[in-house]
Amino acid sequence: RAVRDGVVDSFIGPQKHLTLDLLDAIDPLDLDEYRRHGRFDSLKKCLTELQPEQILDEIETSGLRGRGGAGFPTHIKWRTVRRQQSPTKFVICNGDEGDPGAFMDKVLLESIPFRVIEGMAIAARTVDAHDGIFYVRAEYPLAVERIRNAIEICRQGGILGDSVMGTDFSLNLEIREGAGAYICGEETALIHSIEGGRGTPRIRPPFPAESGLWEKPTLINNVETFATIPWILRHGGKELAKLGTETSKGTKAFALAGKVRNGGLIEVPMGITIRQIVQDIGGGVEPGRTFKAVQIGGPSGGCVPAELADTQIDYESLSAVGSIMGSGGLVVLDDKDCMVDIARYFLKFTQDQSCGKCTFCRVGTRRLLDILDRLCTGNGKKGDLEQLEALSTSVCAGSLCGLGKTAPNPILSTLKYFREEYEAHIAGYCPAGKCVDLIDYR
Ligand code: SF4
Repeated sequence: RAVRDGVVDSFIGPQKHLTLDLLDAIDPLDLDEYRRHGRFDSLKKCLTELQPEQILDEIETSGLRGRGGAGFPTHIKWRTVRRQQSPTKFVICNGDEGDPGAFMDKVLLESIPFRVIEGMAIAARTVDAHDGIFYVRAEYPLAVERIRNAIEICRQGGILGDSVMGTDFSLNLEIREGAGAYICGEETALIHSIEGGRGTPRIRPPFPAESGLWEKPTLINNVETFATIPWILRHGGKELAKLGTETSKGTKAFALAGKVRNGGLIEVPMGITIRQIVQDIGGGVEPGRTFKAVQIGGPSGGCVPAELADTQIDYESLSAVGSIMGSGGLVVLDDKDCMVDIARYFLKFTQDQSCGKCTFCRVGTRRLLDILDRLCTGNGKKGDLEQLEALSTSVCAGSLCGLGKTAPNPILSTLKYFREEYEAHIAGYCPAGKCVDLIDYR
């Protein structure tokens, strides 16, 4: 924990740990210890007491929405898969976390793998799937190792296999390693990757819930979503729904990073404000510096300026200020950060990671990056900002998947709130003193 003396309470106080619970308290691969804490009881309950429809009702009551970024209601996805008349269905845990600075899934997989397995097993039982796959990026070798070992321990302990916890339900889990392509976090690209093809998204519909892996109904949720499921079944959907806002229930894990004094993995109730996260949990920026903005949602998200720090953390409020919830990246910026350079950083990332299938994403992001490069090196010219805006609109509209559709968000949000910094760059001046190639006229 990145906590300094004397600020432990303010760091922990506003947090609410549902998925991070027990994280540093138990041996990640000690099944007995996990079970001593009453865990796997939720799975047992789902196998012996609750019918699939009752499980779905609990998930619906909880208001849980997918934590991977899109915020799609979890129960609708599960119901869609359950409805499909197919003898073969799959459950996939999307552990291809790739946002710069994000490490929520990594820590969950490494520290409490049984919780994610339990969530997956409950999902499999509910939608009537008997095969599941963990898709984890190869850059997380410890997470891969822990999940692999945890699966084997569960198999030997009767939690997985032909007779899950002594019932007639069978479930086999395996692990596949992603090869480092960010786009494989997109559901259809992930499926192509598992099938041995190139990791490129495809047009939807059909949605994976109807026709996914090997054209079979496939339920895909991310690590944090699955890790929340056992808590819901243990405490009831109503308890989760008590946390959060009208439309965004429960908690959200964030990787709090950047110019904040106490960074680290946090889990907060929805509805908390950005200011509470930065000032109370994060301890604010360093003395002498000024809090300037937060970038939420990684390369798909937007910058929210300090003046809007009372914005609540929920899907709708963040969208209203030009950002997104995303999967959990939250970077704090101070007065030494150049917003043009920040936009360039994230656009460079998406440009590198574009799979190249659509022209607007492949070429459009390249042109956007060219303009940002010009601005950051003192070569900006009149009309660049208008071109950035027009091209951003076209890239959003003409791209097939979320990567391209959201790639211009960091540009559009910084242009909206920090336009004077862009104008200063055209004049050859970087207000933050970051773009060292520019002449400082101050
Ligand atoms: Fe590939 Fe970009 Fe098109 Fe998505 S939007 S399919 S990443 S080229």
